[in-house]
Amino acid sequence: MLDGNRERAAVIRNGRSRTRTYAAGAVALLAFATGCGDNGGGGSAAPAAATTPAAPRPSGAAPTAAATTAAAAGAPAGAGAAAWAKWNLTPLAPAPAAPADKPIKLERTGPVPVFSDVRTSDKVVFITIDDGAEKDPKFVEMLTDLKVPISMFLTRDIVKNDYGYFKPLQALGNHVQNHTVDHPVMSKIPAEKQKSEICDAQSALTQQYGAAPLLFRPPFGDGANTPTLNTSVQQCGPRAMVLWRESMQIHDMQYQAADKQLKPGDIILAHFRGPKELKGATMTQMFGDLLARIQEQGFSVARLEDYIQPPA
Ligand SMILES: [Zn+2]
Repeated sequence: MLDGNRERAAVIRNGRSRTRTYAAGAVALLAFATGCGDNGGGGSAAPAAATTPAAPRPSGAAPTAAATTAAAAGAPAGAGAAAWAKWNLTPLAPAPAAPADKPIKLERTGPVPVFSDVRTSDKVVFITIDDGAEKDPKFVEMLTDLKVPISMFLTRDIVKNDYGYFKPLQALGNHVQNHTVDHPVMSKIPAEKQKSEICDAQSALTQQYGAAPLLFRPPFGDGANTPTLNTSVQQCGPRAMVLWRESMQIHDMQYQAADKQLKPGDIILAHFRGPKELKGATMTQMFGDLLARIQEQGFSVARLEDYIQPPA
C-alpha cells in the first residue's frame, strides 16, 4: 500500500471530492486541499516526470569555494567537492547559518499548527523522507559523504524490523519524526484509533531513538486540517503537523505551484524507496536526482528543525 501510486491517487481523489463537497465556505477544508501535497499539481500521482533527462553529470569541477564559504560562515559542515564528485553531483550551495529567531515557534499546549513550508527569505528548501521501507546501506554512505540534512518521518511497523538502519542517519544530526504505526488514512478511522496510531508510534520511536518526535505527518497528508486529528496529535506529544509543497517521484518533483519552481522555505516530500517502487532506480539515484533538481534552481538544503523553535 505504501508504494502504490494508484492507491495514492485514490486517496487524493477522495480528498478532492470531499473538498468539492464542502468548498463553499470551509476555510479549513480549503487549507486541506492546498496542504494535501501530491494532489496540488493537478493530477495523478503518477511520476509524470519520469522521462525528464537525468541531471547533467559534471566531470569533476571542484567548486571548493562553496565549502570554504560554508565553513567561514559557521554554517553546518558541508561536504567537500570530492564527496559530491563521488556521487556524480554538482555541489549544492552551502546553507546559511540557522536563523536565531525561528520562523516557526511551537507552543506546549493547544492546537498544533499545520504547515507545508516555512516563512524565510533564505534560499533554502527542506527535505523530508517518509515511511522507511527501503533500507539501502548505500544511502547511509551517501548522506555520510554529503551531509545533506533530512528529516525522517518513520512509520513504526515499516521500520520495526530494522530500527538500527536509521540510527547512523540520526547520528548525522537528522531527526526522527512521527508517521503513525501502520500508515492508515487518518480521516477514515475513529478518534481513538487515530490516537493509538500516533501515540504508539510516538512511544516506540522515542524508545528506539532516544528523543520524542516533535513533528507529525499524517499519511497522504490526509485529515491534517480536521479538528479530530489535531486533537489526536495533541494527545500524543508532537507539536506540529508537517505537510509539503513538492513531492519527489523518481527523477523529478511534482509541484503544487503552477510555475513548477521551488520557493524559499518549501518542504519537499520524498520516501525511502528502492528499485521496486522506483522502476528500477535506487534510493541513491532518486536522492541524487532530487539534489540535482534543487541545485539547478539555485537552492541549498537546510535542516527543518533548525527553523522550528520547540515549546519552551
Ligand atoms: Zn507515508
